[in-house]
Order: sequence, then structure tokens, then C-alpha cells
Amino acid sequence: MRIAFIAAEASPFIKVGGLGDVIGSLPPALRQLGHQPFVLIPACSSIPGLAEMMVVGEFCVPWPGSEELVRIHKAMHSGVPYYFLENGRYLSRERVYGYPDDAERFAFFSRAALESLRIMGTDLKSVPIMEGSMGAGFPDLVHVHDWHASPVLLYLKTPPYCENPAYTRIATVLTIHNLSFQGIADPDLLPKVGLALSPDNALSEFSGRINLMTGGIKSADTVGTVSPTYAREILTPEMGCGLEVALSSRRRVLFGILNGIDTEEFAPPFQSKRLLKAQLQASLGLPVREEVPLLAVVSRLSEQKGFDLFPPILDSLLAEEVQLVVLGTGDERYERLFREATEQCPAKVSANGGFNAPLAKQIYAGADLFLMPSRFEPCGLGQMIALRYGTVPVVRRTGGLADTVFEYNEESQEGNGFLFAPYQPSAFLSAIRRAFSFYKQETHWERIVSNGLTGDYSWASSAPRYIEAYQNSLRQHRYGDRFPVFMGTELILSP
Ligand code: ADP
Repeated sequence: MRIAFIAAEASPFIKVGGLGDVIGSLPPALRQLGHQPFVLIPACSSIPGLAEMMVVGEFCVPWPGSEELVRIHKAMHSGVPYYFLENGRYLSRERVYGYPDDAERFAFFSRAALESLRIMGTDLKSVPIMEGSMGAGFPDLVHVHDWHASPVLLYLKTPPYCENPAYTRIATVLTIHNLSFQGIADPDLLPKVGLALSPDNALSEFSGRINLMTGGIKSADTVGTVSPTYAREILTPEMGCGLEVALSSRRRVLFGILNGIDTEEFAPPFQSKRLLKAQLQASLGLPVREEVPLLAVVSRLSEQKGFDLFPPILDSLLAEEVQLVVLGTGDERYERLFREATEQCPAKVSANGGFNAPLAKQIYAGADLFLMPSRFEPCGLGQMIALRYGTVPVVRRTGGLADTVFEYNEESQEGNGFLFAPYQPSAFLSAIRRAFSFYKQETHWERIVSNGLTGDYSWASSAPRYIEAYQNSLRQHRYGDRFPVFMGTELILSP
């Protein structure tokens, strides 16, 4: 199958969060299974080496009031072609997100991605065409990610694409990585990007505004999210971020597949935990003490990640024999919280700002416990990386955390971490204390760590599930609701 991934970011080229990890690791896993994925992302000017990349095409995108020139750069990653769309007006900015015209920018990116399928034929001719594929560059399926690429699904229902057989035969999948980001814009966005508000293109108004994620949810052949638990949660008013009704209307084609991590990028280190911990403590300026549990946080410092639970427990936590290392940037209030804790307890706390991948790995490798008390968590990669590095997660039982971390059971000696359910500081603290009590019991601790180390966090089981989902999407695209789509797999929600 030829699959076009359309997304805002892709590791190792440019990564803001878990979405980038997935776009950098799922396509290579699909290629291993014998398929032909390729990836389209915006050419942010901060992508290292962009200027030296091969330019494989240049074309004009029809755009209201003008035409916009787009240049396609190409780089290979794990045998998969990654294409970077460059455009001076909308795409060649330093950051991936965070501009006032983001909705307009990503609508343009979506349209440019669709147009680029037309012209990439020549370049893609080198890729063998599978049986059933028509046309040189056209994919059998486009897999769009989050609201940023959702306009692809709306354009496909709009002329000229809905009248062109090369486009109408393409099946579509939308993956929701985080429902709280929806691409909400004023209705005056539509004429600027060449879309019209109509039931046909399924663009809906959300509180009088445009909501691109809703448009995607209504228009995709199938809609997926990044863990089975999150797929169930987003159908509820508490977790649906206002889109639970739109999602429920697509319940028949809604599925949840757990993300994998790039197991080569996150390969467990050869050195002993003891050594790695000592090195980490030394490099952070913390006392090198083997017996003291070293707690770690590597995260965006946002409300989603549960940082409101820290202020009420920090004093009690730091009254114990512990060390805490935090790596993350985000909300100023949380940055200040950990900075002040460092000033007050320099021998116990180390707060580190910025996005620092090497330090993140050093922390995953050297810490004893990994804290992830998320308010909600579509999948979460941090806990899986931690498990792979022999670091025991303490997490809230929500979304993908509930699908990957299992409470340690003293009797059966099963389980790889510690969980709490109510979003309350006391519940978080008692889960940490449960972890401490086992930390002191060496045999149990070794068992918990080894249960984590032996888990499979790769794409080995999830990538074939995506192929299943793609096949279901092709069927749904061809036959619509006339056939039962998702039968017989526990990851899929039945109606
Ligand atoms: P989200 O995508 O919501 O931010 P995930 O857990 O899915 O959360 O993915 C976060 C990814 O980003 C993980 O690979 C994590 O290690 C990494 N990460 C988060 N903050 C930092 C940071 N400050 N420096 C380096 N890596 C980070």
C-alpha cells in the first residue's frame, strides 16, 4: 500500500512532542512490513540541513487571489522519503506552531500537500508500485494527523479534488494525537483558504467559529487515536473537549492504536543503572547518593501533564530523602515552581529548562522513578521510554498511561509501575510513597524494573494494526456504511 503521511512535525528533523516521534517512527515500521509510506511536513526554517537537501520539485498552488510557489525538499530517514514543503508566505517559519495565522498556514500546507501528490510522480516512480495502486505519485491512502492536516480532508471533498478520479479514489484516515488542540478560527478564514461552509464539506461551526478538527472528524473515512483507552474517553463529555458528539457520530469507524517508540533511538544503555545514576547526579550538581530515590520529570510544562498536583505535595515530598530532576519548558508558573524548589533545596532538586534531547535520555537512563501524573494523556511516550530505560513510572490511570503502566502486585510480582486514579494531590503522593516502599525492598524493585525492561514498546504490534485500520479505511471509502467495518479486533470500538 502506498501511504502519504501528512503532519506538522517529524522526528528526527523537527520535533515538538509525541506527534513528531510518531511521524518519525511509524512510517519506517510500515516500510518494514513491505508498504510504501512517504511523509509530507512543512519546511520550517529551523530544520537542520534543509538548505543542503535535494530539491525534487517546484510548483504553484492555486490560492485565493494569488498563486503560491512551493518548493519540495527531500531527505531519507530509515528508508522512507520525507518531503518538506517550503513557502515563503506561510511555511518557512522558524517554529512549527504558535503564530496568529496558524489556521490559515496549515490550511495552505494541507492544500500544498494535496497538490504536491500530483507532481511528485516523477520522483516517486523509483518506488515500486504495488498491485492495486494507480498513478505514479498518488497514494492509496492519506493518513493525516491532528487538526493541522485536517483541511486535507475538507479539500478532498471540494472542487477540483472531488472531481478528479486520481484524488477521489484516495482513502483517508485521521489520527487524533491530542483532542485539546482543534484549530479553531473565525469564519472569515474560509474565503481566505478557498473553503466554503457547507454540510457537504462537513466543516462545522463551533460556538460560531470554525473548527478544523471537527471538519476532519466528520470527513475522514476512519478516525483513530493513539490508545484504546483514549478512544473510549473522548466519547465522554468530561474528556471529549466539546467534540464528543461529533466523535460519537463516527463511533462505527473510531479506533485506538497504541503508539510505539523508536526503539533504536531509545535503546537501553549498556552501563549499569548505578553508574548512570551517579553520572546524572554529578552532572546535575546533586549529591551522588546511590540509596536516595531519584525522581524525574521530562515533559512539556503544561496543565495537561498534571503539574497542578505538584505544589500541594512538593513540601512533603522534599521532606523525605529524595532527589527530583525536572526537564521541561512551558507555563511560567510551573517553571517558577521548580526553579524556586531548586533555590530552596539545591541538594534535592534540579530544574532544567529548554528542549534538550541528550539530557532527556540521560535522565531517563539515570533516574529511578518517572513521574507522569497527566490530567489526560492520549498515549504518552515518556512512560514507555522510561520503562525501556529501567525507570519505574508513577502515572495517573488515564488514556495511554492506563494501557501501558500496570500496578505492581506484590503477590503475583506482576506490574511495571504505580498508578493513581482521582486527580488529587494526595492520591499522587500516596502512589509515589507506594513506589518508595518497594524501592527499599531490593528483590521487589529488581522485579518491577525487569517487568518494565521486558515489555515491548516498539511498533512491532501496533504497525500491523495500522495496516488493518488502513484496509478498513479502503473498504469504508469504497463501500461506505453499507458494510460492517471494524469487526473482531479488541482495539476497535464496536458500535
Ligand atoms: P506530548 O506529545 O504531549 O508532549 P509525549 O509523552 O507523547 O507528550 O511525548 C513527549 C516527547 O517529548 C517524549 O519523547 C519526551 O521525552 C520529549 N520531551 C518532552 N519535553 C522534553 C524536553 N524538555 N527536552 C527533551 N525532550 C522532551
